[in-house]
Amino acid sequence: MTPEEFRRHGYALVDWVAGYWSELAKLRVTPEAPPGTAAGALPDRAPEHGDGFAGLLADLDRVIVPNLTHWQHPAFFAYFPANTSGPSVLADLVCAGLGVQGMLWSTGPACTEVETVVLDWLADVMDLPARFRSTGTGGGVIQDSASSAALVATVAALHRASGGRWRQSGVDGRYTVYTSTQGHSSIEKAARVAGLGDAAVRLVEVDEAYAMRPEALRAAIAADVAAGAVPALVVATVGTTSTTAVDPLGAIGEICREYRAWLHVDAAYAGAATVCPELRWVHSGLELADSYCFDPHKWLLTGFDCDAFWIADRAELVKALTVLPEYLRNTATESGAVIDYRDWHVPLGRRFRALKLWFVLRWYGAEGLRAHIRSGVSLAARFAEWVAADERFEIVAPHPFSLVCFRRRGPDGPNEELLRRVNATGQAYLTHTRVGGRYVLRLAVGSPWTEEAHVAAVWQLIRDLA
Ligand code: PLP
Repeated sequence: MTPEEFRRHGYALVDWVAGYWSELAKLRVTPEAPPGTAAGALPDRAPEHGDGFAGLLADLDRVIVPNLTHWQHPAFFAYFPANTSGPSVLADLVCAGLGVQGMLWSTGPACTEVETVVLDWLADVMDLPARFRSTGTGGGVIQDSASSAALVATVAALHRASGGRWRQSGVDGRYTVYTSTQGHSSIEKAARVAGLGDAAVRLVEVDEAYAMRPEALRAAIAADVAAGAVPALVVATVGTTSTTAVDPLGAIGEICREYRAWLHVDAAYAGAATVCPELRWVHSGLELADSYCFDPHKWLLTGFDCDAFWIADRAELVKALTVLPEYLRNTATESGAVIDYRDWHVPLGRRFRALKLWFVLRWYGAEGLRAHIRSGVSLAARFAEWVAADERFEIVAPHPFSLVCFRRRGPDGPNEELLRRVNATGQAYLTHTRVGGRYVLRLAVGSPWTEEAHVAAVWQLIRDLA
């Protein structure tokens, strides 16, 4: 493809994406087609001869769009949002066009330096503790996901707990990891991948608001220490997946200090909310954390994949992960004056993902990001008011952000049936969870195109089908 051909087809494709966004609200949120439909619409073999671009564009309409769950749809209320935005998409285009591989500072100086600066900017916009800034001992890096952030935190915690010995001898079954019963499954997965296994993970009891009980954490750690274990890592959550509960970071952090355990804070979804000063209470005690992450790719208008991960002492992470073969040696690294992000995560190679955060921050400004968060919070609050005012329904957990957990009063069966019927209409998409053993519906607002009319329409639909 010559640059001229790229220009022509690129313009057509940008038109296509803009058209998709403008027409999105008219589509079903979820597809009706049974499994195998998209695969069945494709030929059995790759083409022997290149067949140009016109057919590809037509196939986006024929094969892809009808067989998608539309995450950017204004009536997408499932899981947590995974927003994207114009500036984020355009930045990804630049990233792909540059094709830079920024494993070392020397293989992409701007790729490295823009990432460091933009994560400092973001830390500033969220008022994160000073210890996470690159200007001190800390710093930020983009991981692909909060799951990878949990893995990196686990490895750094093991490094600290073993005095660095795990690098030579692996792990020996003494190390333990703690999160609440509401912690995300990625924490258990990280413990498995790090070689600790499921048996090392303790799920700590929660209170009536589904937040971790610090006294239960202390009791679990004390019992493990008495039995000869080494508490390596505690993962506290700001905004749990089921209900967006907020663990008390200050009390948890004090316990971590006492036992020299690493504290990682997983704010995958809710961290974005702290661009708004009125929601920063969720970070009270964060200055005691060793690492922190949230996903701009969930609720901060930055397309997947973009997890922002900060660490208080970057040297600990680098020591845990660095392996320096001869073929990567270079004078910039040896000078000690640069960051080589390859030592901050599992993959060696990395693309220029900081571009999309940079574009998003410059396009919206902190003010635009705050407006986006506030819109989601106020739409969710409006929905919760309607639910609370209808005596057939109940709200089952606090809803400080843009997720509302609710159910029809009574047994689970009618709630399961209600969710099935709502989603079958294709007019909206919600998912469920279990809270205190009960089946609960979740409505998460997050698309930048969701307006009050969309939330009112889904509430009407729920009432009509209840
Ligand atoms: N942690 C929490 C609290 C989450 O809610 C999620 C996903 O929803 C994750 C971690 C995993 O996120 P990711 O897909 O970025 O790995």
